[in-house]
Order: sequence, then structure tokens, then C-alpha cells
Amino acid sequence: MTDTVTETRTPAASNQAALRAAGNDHILMHASAYRALAADSGKRILVEGKGCIVRDIDGNEFIDALAGLWLVNVGHGRAEIGEAMARQATTLAYASSTQATTIPAIQLATRLAEITPGDLSTAFFCSGGSEAVESAIKIARQFHYHNGEPKRSKIIGRRGSYHGATYGAMSVSGTRPMSEPYHSPFMHGVLHASPPYCYRCDFRHSHPACDVLCADQIGQIIEYENPKTVAAVIAEPISASNGIAVPPDDYWPRLRQICDTHGVLLITDEVINGFGRTGKMFASEHWNLVGDIMTMAKGLSSGYAPIGAVMCRPSVMAAFEGDNRLSHLLTYGGHAAACAAALANLAIIEDEGLVENAARMGRLLMDGLEALRSHPTVGDVRGLGLLAGVELVKDKATKAKFEE
Ligand code: PLP
Repeated sequence: MTDTVTETRTPAASNQAALRAAGNDHILMHASAYRALAADSGKRILVEGKGCIVRDIDGNEFIDALAGLWLVNVGHGRAEIGEAMARQATTLAYASSTQATTIPAIQLATRLAEITPGDLSTAFFCSGGSEAVESAIKIARQFHYHNGEPKRSKIIGRRGSYHGATYGAMSVSGTRPMSEPYHSPFMHGVLHASPPYCYRCDFRHSHPACDVLCADQIGQIIEYENPKTVAAVIAEPISASNGIAVPPDDYWPRLRQICDTHGVLLITDEVINGFGRTGKMFASEHWNLVGDIMTMAKGLSSGYAPIGAVMCRPSVMAAFEGDNRLSHLLTYGGHAAACAAALANLAIIEDEGLVENAARMGRLLMDGLEALRSHPTVGDVRGLGLLAGVELVKDKATKAKFEE
């Protein structure tokens, strides 16, 4: 293994027991039964990472196959990102996002305007994916308000999709069965359509005979609700939480057209899809898709700093001319050290050809995974680039799922 962690940062054994105890007592884990995790030998405490490998406090090494939480796109231990952050933090770490901007924020916004699809050109910065989705929803609603259509407030998401954990993002996510018992009522005015999840099509159709009925269904929902009340459709180009549901090639052109026909904004969520993972800088590029508003986070800094962004087209920004200021602010939006991290991260992605690498390695991965299709529990294999999934089933004929 060439990528092994070499440097040792493990605390002395006597401190380890105290650390474990403190971790059990004082850390509330995200979305995990934390007492159960603690019951065993304590929470896993990671101390170091290099490339694809992370090492825990006991010296065990793991392949970080999920790249943290789908985000360490350039690998762990990239000193150049840390150095760029340190340089910026000791020069100017922060400026108020309401009154000023900074050089790294301008450079990052400019770079994003260059690499995002079509004419997406103006960046609103935030701290992560959920905030990006919240911000996109508010920008979409306020856009319609200034455009003289204040009743356009409804947002359409898709079942099974995940867009974040804050209230608006959770509400537009199609993961209600998981959050409803604890967190309802949700944001008002949200509707959910069928995803392009061909292996388990809601309509029991198959492509191409279906003529992407799942895209047309969104048009039907818009018409039924009255287009003049619908602000936006939000969707990932490839839905990760639907088990990497890669849509058929005619899905996105159809949905883009439906949104245009009804004056509904399309929010493309590239939080997981973006920054090379699918073998293109953004997954939208696989279908020449340009969202009116695009959300991103995760791979924007490869996790070295908490940062997200919302990119908007000039047609959206036109509503915010003159006195129409955006009614939304986030203290950490455009944090200078975080922007410096993102710039250094983008330079690595570009200099090392990581997008092309993901396309190349993705083909290898898919070839390997395709060979598993004959296995009795492999129901489906799908993916693009290094975003890939294998759907395991109890029974291939009925597609019955395993219990949790
Ligand atoms: N959007 C998508 C598609 C995501 O997968 C996620 C998180 O996994 C989010 C938004 C929310 O991002 P965050 O966890 O950074 O708030």
C-alpha cells in the first residue's frame, strides 16, 4: 500500500483511556445511536489520514472508501491546503459577509463562474450543503417575489432524495419516513414526485418505453398545483440517496423543458455529484444541463474547511438589481480561510487531472462491479465515474429487500 499513514500522532496509552471516556461522555454523534457506539470499546477516534487511508487511535488503518462523507475528493493529508488556509487565516481570516468581501472569496467566485455549466456566474457562499439548499430555496422564492409573482412559493422535490438536515432542506428531501416521527411539521408548500429510479420504477415501466413518465409527472404536478404557485424544482443530477439513481439520457432535457415552460426555476443540487466525482467536474455536464440555481459543498473544499456555495444565473440575479437586496445572511458565508482552502483544493483537482482520473478509474470500477451481476444477491449495478452503487436484494426475481 503506497498510501499508508506514516507519521504517528497517537497519544500515550494512559491518555487514550481518558480520551475515550471523554468522547463517550461529551460527543453527541450525528445520526448514530451514540450510546450503542460507545458501549463497545468506545467511539472510533481517527487520528490521521493520508490519501485514501485513515488511521485510528489504536493504529488500525482503513480504506476511506466513502471519502469521509462523500467529500475528501483530493485525499487526506494535503499539506498545501492547510498551508493556504494558514496563510489566509494569519492575513485576514474573516470579513462580514454583509459589508465586505475578500480577495479569496472573489477569486473563488470567479473560478466557480468559469467551471460551472452554462452561464452560472454569481456565487452566494455558506458553510455547507444544507445551508446551500436553504439559501437556494430563499433565493428562488425571493426571485419570484421581485418578478411580480409573489405567490410562487411551492417547491417540488423527489422521493428518496436527500438535500440536507436543516428544516427547509429536510422538508424538500424525499426522506420523510425517516424524519417525520421526530421532526414534523415540515416546511409548508413542498411536494414530492417520483425519482428516475429505473430499477424500482414507481410506474412499473421500463425505459425507453416509459418515455420518462417520471419527468412528465413533475409537469403534471406543476399544472395541477397551478404553475403560478410553484417556485422551483430541486433535484440532484444523479440521486445519491436513491442508491445512485443515474437517470436515463432523456430525463434531464425533458425536465429542463418542463421547468422552462412553466416559469419554474430548476435548482440542481451538486453537493455530492460535484467536483469530479462522476468523471465530469459537475454531473450536470453529462446531459448539458444548466440549473438556474446550483448548490454545492463537500468536494468544494474536499472537507478541509466547512464551505458551500449557491451559483446563480444572470437571469436569476436580474431580480436582485437596485434596491432588491437579498433577504438572507449567514455569518460565516464567504469565510476567507475557507475560500482559500477551496481555491487550493480546486488547484489540486485541476493540476492532478482528478476529474479525468475519476472518469478513467470509474470505468475500471464499473467493469469490476458489472462482473458481480451474476451474484445471487446483486440486484442492480449502476453509477457514473466514481459515484457507483450495487443494490443488494434478498430475491432477484421479486427484488425483495433485506431487512435493515
Ligand atoms: N445535498 C445533498 C445532495 C447531500 O447529499 C447533502 C449531504 O449529504 C446535503 C445537501 C447537505 O449537506 P451538509 O451535510 O453539508 O449540510
